[in-house]
Amino acid sequence: MGYPQSAFREELEVQRIAKCPVCSEKVPLDIDYSVVKKAKRFPVTVRVEHEDHYFYVNLDSFGSVTDILHPELVE
Ligand SMILES: [Zn+2]
Repeated sequence: MGYPQSAFREELEVQRIAKCPVCSEKVPLDIDYSVVKKAKRFPVTVRVEHEDHYFYVNLDSFGSVTDILHPELVE
């Protein structure tokens, strides 16, 4: 059983909010969803730049954030 096509809004740059694990501010995510389209395995990890630091988010195949990762957990 498949999911409806509309479940993956590839045309939209959907902005989501993540709480930055480094500074605890709420950060609007502006993710290029072509990385989700091109990914072969999920979740796909995307680096998010925030001011003078960065963190990572995991995205599922629909572009939804499944995890927010502190950079020390990844590197
Ligand atoms: Zn931050």
